[in-house]
Amino acid sequence: MRSVIIDGYVDEPACFGVPPYISPYIRYIAGALVESGQKTNDILYFTIDQLRIPGSSDFSVIKEADLVIILSGVTVPGKYLRSTPITPSEIDYLCKNSKGIKIIGGPIKLGYSKEGGQKATYLTFPDDSYLASGDIEAFIKDLFDESGKLVDPASIDSRLRTNDEIARWSQKGAFIIEKHPDYPNVMCEIETYRGCGRNVHCSFCTEASYGYSDYRKIEDVISEVAQLYHFGARFFRIGRQPDIFSYQSKDIGESVRQPDAEALESLYSGIRAVAPELKVLHMDNANPLTIATFPNECREIMKTIVKYHTSGDVAAMGMESADPTVIKANNLKAYPKQVFEAIKLMNEIGAKRGTSGLPELLPGLNFVHGLPGESKKTFQLNFDFLKNVLNSGLLLRRINIRQVMSFPSTPLENMELPLYPKQFSKYRDKVRKEIDLPMLRKVIPKGIVLKDVLCEVVNKGKSGFWTSGRQMGTYPILVQIPEKLPLWQYRDVIVTGHGFRSITGVPYPLDINTASGRLMKEAGLPAPEVAAILRMRPFKNKDDVLMKVPGISGYSSLISVD
Ligand code: SF4
Repeated sequence: MRSVIIDGYVDEPACFGVPPYISPYIRYIAGALVESGQKTNDILYFTIDQLRIPGSSDFSVIKEADLVIILSGVTVPGKYLRSTPITPSEIDYLCKNSKGIKIIGGPIKLGYSKEGGQKATYLTFPDDSYLASGDIEAFIKDLFDESGKLVDPASIDSRLRTNDEIARWSQKGAFIIEKHPDYPNVMCEIETYRGCGRNVHCSFCTEASYGYSDYRKIEDVISEVAQLYHFGARFFRIGRQPDIFSYQSKDIGESVRQPDAEALESLYSGIRAVAPELKVLHMDNANPLTIATFPNECREIMKTIVKYHTSGDVAAMGMESADPTVIKANNLKAYPKQVFEAIKLMNEIGAKRGTSGLPELLPGLNFVHGLPGESKKTFQLNFDFLKNVLNSGLLLRRINIRQVMSFPSTPLENMELPLYPKQFSKYRDKVRKEIDLPMLRKVIPKGIVLKDVLCEVVNKGKSGFWTSGRQMGTYPILVQIPEKLPLWQYRDVIVTGHGFRSITGVPYPLDINTASGRLMKEAGLPAPEVAAILRMRPFKNKDDVLMKVPGISGYSSLISVD
């Protein structure tokens, strides 16, 4: 009996699983298979990008597998450096070309659209495949009887999994990370809870489909991290929840729940205790209304995060709109004043620069356009809000602007959506130039050294080769290095310039016995000195360079001689 899990990737508002990330769903599925009696050697795992490689031998394994499980679902599509989520035609192709039972699941059950600004629709799949309309991991568990034999998939009632089940499956499935093509450079997305605790829900949000907030036990999350760590995981993001500040929060009869700072202290200290040598511990998602309503509790939580995490952390806040008309029409969670207060508080605790080269903890902001109530004025209000943040000296790590995708089963499904495509692209360009660029210059100024940038892709442009890399972590900044560098190696990089949403840099320190003239110039070394270095190298040591090329003395901290 051989099972294959195909990772078609997920990208939801509160869960990410595109390489180098591995979503919790993949690990839960693997754990459900193990609990059903399957041997770990007979559970194979491929990403869709692995299967796209022409002539991939992995494909023949899929053809012959007894069970093919396809995870998919992008409800908030982004741009990915080297990965592309599975397409409906690829799902069809895979189903039609495998003999075994085919189960499809994940957020794809909520609908599919290629891009924002469109209505998502339910997909139909080949006749001999089955869609898990509840949780795919629960479907997989129910697919086996007590003796470990497959049952008829048509006899299964789709259902949601319980927290007790994922407590077990997350640990039993941790081994699967070793089969990820990026291993050991894999970011494990960790779930603390799903579902939304609000009584009313934002019109566009699919998180409400998971029901009311359903918190996992602290000890369960810590045990999962311990097991992942045992299998070599060193990069973690506590990202699968809509608001980390509300984890284990108390219902006090108000529209916002009261945060539990002690619970967050137990969670973070517990993770550090079981994963002492972890390299990254980041988070995702914060509700600005929680922070603005409970500043004292949230200040404590921010201090806890900064105490135990690794720097470069980002709390993505779903602001969605600064326009009160849009906020009201769509039941959005927070008004601009509250978002501003949340940004201010987070800057107070998190703006200090950490060892990664980035500030410890900064807010990010998410905006959604195309919501009911939007008018041309909305664009101005959003821009004015951002300008005010910039002029106030506050830092934002990232501003995400997207067009809404309307999903069946959300309130948006039956609402009329306004369309201002021209204003949208004009406004987005204006934000890129007038907000993103000056903000990026403040967050990551020239001369800052970013530690451990993983080189991932090499491209050839008009000016020569460029290597693109990122730090492992949440919302990593794209780093462009004007040189062809070996891939899958970590480099420290000194920042030399800024794009709207990326930075340019050179390896730090720069080995001038091997660096190209182009790299040395990008590092700021004067052209005559670069020419002299190229002519006279190799050098024995730094003193040798300084003696032979005295004009380089002002740059001595930038260079090395290996
Ligand atoms: S607050 Fe709004 S956006 Fe956040 S999870 Fe709830 S419904 Fe979704």
